[in-house]
Amino acid sequence: MNNQKKTERKQFDEVMVPCYSPMPMIPEYGKGARLWDQEGREYIDFAGGIAVSCLGHAHPSLVNALKIQAEKLWHLSNVMTNAPALRLAKKLTQSCFAERVFFCNSGAEANEAALKLARRRAFDIYAEEKSEIIAFHQGFHGRTFFTVTAGGQPAYSDGFGPKPGDITHLPYNDLPAFEACISDKTCAVIVEPVQGEGGVILADDAFLQGLRALCNKHHALLIFDEVQTGVGRTGSFYAYQQTSVIPDILTSAKALGGGFPIGAMLTTRLFASHMKVGTHGSTYGGNPLACAVGLAVVELVNQGKLLEGVKEREVWFHQALDALNAKYNMFQAIRSKGLLIGAEFNDTYTGRAREFLSLAGEEGLLVLAAGANVIRITPSLLITKEEFDEGVIRFSRALARLQKA
Ligand SMILES: *Cc1c(COP(=O)(O)O)cnc(C)c1O
Repeated sequence: MNNQKKTERKQFDEVMVPCYSPMPMIPEYGKGARLWDQEGREYIDFAGGIAVSCLGHAHPSLVNALKIQAEKLWHLSNVMTNAPALRLAKKLTQSCFAERVFFCNSGAEANEAALKLARRRAFDIYAEEKSEIIAFHQGFHGRTFFTVTAGGQPAYSDGFGPKPGDITHLPYNDLPAFEACISDKTCAVIVEPVQGEGGVILADDAFLQGLRALCNKHHALLIFDEVQTGVGRTGSFYAYQQTSVIPDILTSAKALGGGFPIGAMLTTRLFASHMKVGTHGSTYGGNPLACAVGLAVVELVNQGKLLEGVKEREVWFHQALDALNAKYNMFQAIRSKGLLIGAEFNDTYTGRAREFLSLAGEEGLLVLAAGANVIRITPSLLITKEEFDEGVIRFSRALARLQKA
């Protein structure tokens, strides 16, 4: 490709803050659901950059949108607005319940904005004690200190000194526990319609309906964190659209930029009104490059044909994983909502998801883990039958190796 010297994985340990432990290869380019590393070795990508690359790698429409905008204007800050941001905001309000959009650069920032909005609204119109946030065990909402504390894995938020206060954690899908806890002091409830990082756990519709009814009763805002489930992942544009519940705030990121960093907090006109001039902000939020790409993503994803394709592909994966399990007997559960798929190891293979990931990598397949026990698959929403079939062969080889190991 060029005569630059190859970069080596070991350099990571010499120059990077060691909060990650990346795989041994260094990908150089991608196309669709395939990646190639510096050695020219090819990989099938069932990971999709953690549910981000929703249209695969190097989708021509996204490349084009980025190139066109790159030659016009990159950045202004929020001292001025710009056409791509306004177009994307309009498109998002036409695609869901929301009437107002706040742009930022990541899922954590979208949730940070949502939680701050909920606190500010309660502060504006109710008593100062109305500050409790209810969240759920095993939930994940990002890594800023507020959002990671809202997340339901203390291991991620412990060890950084005093935490943001008044956040309560309850078991997911346990409506009686929620009903016993929520009160007029609750200002917001934050929940994922499917817990992604937590192991691909689906919310019961009755649970979400119960959250909605009790939030109404106690004047608390219901926040749906759709950072992972949003933008076509589950077979509707947002996952809530397959439930009978409408949230007050929805957060979106990951697939929204198809690989370009962008996040958004979506809400109603009424709730948005509490974020007055100066209450919150972001230098890059609404950046023209990100919004031009985001607009191309939303235009492509929010179409009946693509969303139906997600449901078809879900069936491919389910059938293949069932067949592999019939052969190897390694999973106790296979769960999915669209192309957010989790396969949970049975007792014999408990805790071996990471080991499977390395073996899969050696076989030329990229997959994810969600915790120690669940293999997670979040591929391109456009993955072809041919890419899928090849991936399944490699998946099978990696399972066979894990079984023998
Ligand atoms: C990934 C994720 C986040 C955090 O997004 P970042 O872009 O990494 O900040 C928040 N919530 C959910 C549900 C996620 O899956």
